[in-house]
Amino acid sequence: MSTPTAVAKPAATPENDAPRDFIRQIIREDLSSGKHTAIRTRFPPEPNGYLHVGHAKAICLDFGIAREFAGWCNLRLDDTNPGKEDPEFVEGIKDDVRWLGYEWHDLRHASDYFEVFYRAALKLIQDGQAYVDDLSPEEMREYRGTLTEPGRNSPYRDRSVEESLSLFRRMRAGEFPDGSKTLRARIDMASGNMNMRDPAIYRIRTVTHQNTGDEWPIYPMYDYAHCLSDVLEGITHSLCTLEFEDHRPLYDWFVDKVDLPSHPELWEHMRQAGFHTEPAKPRQIEFSRLNLSYCITSKRKLAQLVNEGLVDGWDDPRMNTLRGLRRRGFTPGGIRLLIERLGVSKQNSVIDYAILENCVREDLDASAPRRMAVIDPLRLVITNLPDAHEESLSFSNHPKDESFGSRQVPFSRELWIEREDFAEVPPKGFHRLKPEGEVRLRGVGIVKCVEVIKAADGSVSEVRCTLDPESRSGMPGADRKVKGTIHWVSARHGVAAEIRLYDRQFNVPTPDDESDGKSWIEHINPDAKRIVRGWLEPAAAAAAPEQRYQFERLGYFVADRLDHRAEVPVFNRAVTLRDTWAKQSA
Ligand code: ATP
Ligand code: MG
Repeated sequence: MSTPTAVAKPAATPENDAPRDFIRQIIREDLSSGKHTAIRTRFPPEPNGYLHVGHAKAICLDFGIAREFAGWCNLRLDDTNPGKEDPEFVEGIKDDVRWLGYEWHDLRHASDYFEVFYRAALKLIQDGQAYVDDLSPEEMREYRGTLTEPGRNSPYRDRSVEESLSLFRRMRAGEFPDGSKTLRARIDMASGNMNMRDPAIYRIRTVTHQNTGDEWPIYPMYDYAHCLSDVLEGITHSLCTLEFEDHRPLYDWFVDKVDLPSHPELWEHMRQAGFHTEPAKPRQIEFSRLNLSYCITSKRKLAQLVNEGLVDGWDDPRMNTLRGLRRRGFTPGGIRLLIERLGVSKQNSVIDYAILENCVREDLDASAPRRMAVIDPLRLVITNLPDAHEESLSFSNHPKDESFGSRQVPFSRELWIEREDFAEVPPKGFHRLKPEGEVRLRGVGIVKCVEVIKAADGSVSEVRCTLDPESRSGMPGADRKVKGTIHWVSARHGVAAEIRLYDRQFNVPTPDDESDGKSWIEHINPDAKRIVRGWLEPAAAAAAPEQRYQFERLGYFVADRLDHRAEVPVFNRAVTLRDTWAKQSA
């Protein structure tokens, strides 16, 4: 190892205003002390479901930190649990990581290392550090003891090395039924840390594996496979969530006892299999999970919503999966902003969902062009314009950023306005359109309501107005002030659209909290999806799928990535312009 002074600072050391959380602090120290010259991390999801918003935190840390320090991050599929895993999820995970803006150095699978894990286990047995146990899973549980009582040694614990070796080879050869034998680490049945009470290393499971097929009747346990995968990939900092804190002693035990770097034959095997890596001694560091209010972040429960048909799939915009949020119109930038703002700590907490929504708003405010749409239409007729009147008005695409350019918006005698922008009996402080009242039509001028037409049921079906010609742009009265400005879409030019209005999936902040005797399923917000028919200005209808817009005064919307077509537009509401939940809970 070089001395600290001999170590050149890595080229991409973050600026002084870079995040200074405890993990980055450790990494800086490891670089400046010369402990490591490059930073290597991994993101290790289990391909048994799609990723959710909680995983975004791990992704942003694993990939983000590697990038900040000019290192790299592997995407490692932790596929040690065959049967629950599915290639569909593998593809989904890859997609989602890329969507968030990250690229992996190598794509690995824990199953790439099955042979090395197996041979390393043989070494452990030879070194007297592991033994084959014949206790059944129930018996093992019984022998394990409790938090307050030590466990008992298995009667098979003192089996000879030769016998364990032979039995383990026969386990691998598929000679024994599922669950009849286990390879266990010989550590300490009296340890205060339950994870250290002779944990299982291998179990027998005759299940077809998505990558290795029927080659293996035995599968390594997570704790064993995970840390050794880190060593094999040369991972320097193995970042994980707090629930693994109690597993860290076991992580270190396996790393030390297996001591992979001292087995050149295993490295050679890896190299021949196409996995060239430099070993490292990884350090596990834990951070707190991301929990969001009004959300569930459990793959099992998300899968239940899908399997029971309570949502329209993993990418239903109500779901807090990354693909759900994507389809809903949330941005990767907004999600990354949330993670950055929250920082990293070891403190568990529930973050208000409004903070995520605000980050998404902030990102979309800067990045989404403006358009006009009407989602609850009421007809407005301008009686002092001729029937055939038609104009093309120039609108800027972004009020704060000229680089977005401008577009032409058709204007004519008949328009759609939002029903709620007209009130026959206006409440106090109502500054929009009312009988005999005036309002500014965005980009057009001031109209005055001169007549209200009603349908047979008494509801307002049309409002008739006159347009003050002096108030039009370029005219002397263009600056005349009226209190309200409303948006509109030309009825003759507007394109009918399906608008899906999404809202939070649950109607209580902590759906998982079952202390009131209600299951989380009962807290599903029935209004989380509402479909309405609206009208779009032509330039909005022409959007490519996944184009996001601010529909003026309504919120941020996205052209549905699967269902939208220019002739039959479908837009999803990502988020309203303001937080509508704050006043409800206040
Ligand atoms: P679940 O409990 O939903 O099944 P998991 O932790 O089992 O999630 P994995 O696929 O094993 O899911 O997770 C991959 C990585 O993502 C792990 O390193 C895990 O610590 C991290 N992770 C999972 N959930 C969160 C979360 N809510 N916040 C931060 N990191 C998370
Ligand atoms: Mg897990």
